[in-house]
Amino acid sequence: MGQTFAVGLDVGGTDVKAALVDDEGTIAFKTSRPTEPARGADAVLADMADLSQTVVAEVGVSKSSVVGVGIGAPGPLSPRRGIILKAANLPRFKNVPIRDEVSRLVGLPAVLANDGNAAAYGEFWVGAGRDVADMVMLTLGTGVGAGVIVEGRLLSGHFENAAELGHTVVQPGGLLCSCGQRGCLEQYASATNVARRVIDAIEAGAESSLSNTPGGVSAITSKHLVDAVSQGDPLAKQIWEDACRYLAIACLNAERSFNPAMIVLGGGMSAAGALLLDSVRRNRDQHRWSLMDDIAEIVLAQVGNDAGVIGAAGLMFADLRGD
Ligand SMILES: [Zn+2]
Repeated sequence: MGQTFAVGLDVGGTDVKAALVDDEGTIAFKTSRPTEPARGADAVLADMADLSQTVVAEVGVSKSSVVGVGIGAPGPLSPRRGIILKAANLPRFKNVPIRDEVSRLVGLPAVLANDGNAAAYGEFWVGAGRDVADMVMLTLGTGVGAGVIVEGRLLSGHFENAAELGHTVVQPGGLLCSCGQRGCLEQYASATNVARRVIDAIEAGAESSLSNTPGGVSAITSKHLVDAVSQGDPLAKQIWEDACRYLAIACLNAERSFNPAMIVLGGGMSAAGALLLDSVRRNRDQHRWSLMDDIAEIVLAQVGNDAGVIGAAGLMFADLRGD
């Protein structure tokens, strides 16, 4: 176990996850609690502080060996000011000074980061990206979260919302996104939206073995879709291939923009393993550039659901180093 620790918090619409993480990125203890955001920001902030104190107490380290609390939360937010501006999954969080409030309640320094950015940092620190300095991560879950690491640092941007790759346009005039744009990657390649596309197709009359999903067509998830792809269902294969084609476009655009050594695919969709990786690589390779031979390696995430808390803690350590 390392010498110093940071608390990592990952605040989502469903759960608040907390972990005590050592300076090598190993979790010493973790726990979680339902967010219940309808209670309002103050109640959730009190829970975040309480969970922070719980993970420290459970491990039994002295508070002086804990350098602070890293918080990953849905955005848009301002890491510099430590404020959640607003969040779709946390409807009562508007302009909440989450960083300073948690810091005050816990009595330790705190940092705030976008949840997709925190997960990317976790994967960079201890996961697939641990041996590279330049990495892009896409987290394919309810939405498409992302983070970009350039020369060992998380890219933030002038307006502090860099790396929103889930809302890059991959289909001009395409599906309307919750962000107000049309044709965002998230509409074509998040776990939730690929399932949505299958449901819409079946409800519009398309034939598929997924019509017989237990619980009805509306209960179809990306996991059902992956199973159907493995079994050769034509509709499932077509929608899966489509999602992988859009992901390949996003990978290409990320390569041209950031020149990463590695692009990491995580989140619920990555449970498909080779089915995802092979198809995204194949589609990406159809668009090979003729100007240079170097290409980013596309790989699966290794850290899993803990990437957010580990990355948030890692960003606390990075902040102390001045990174
Ligand atoms: Zn969007």
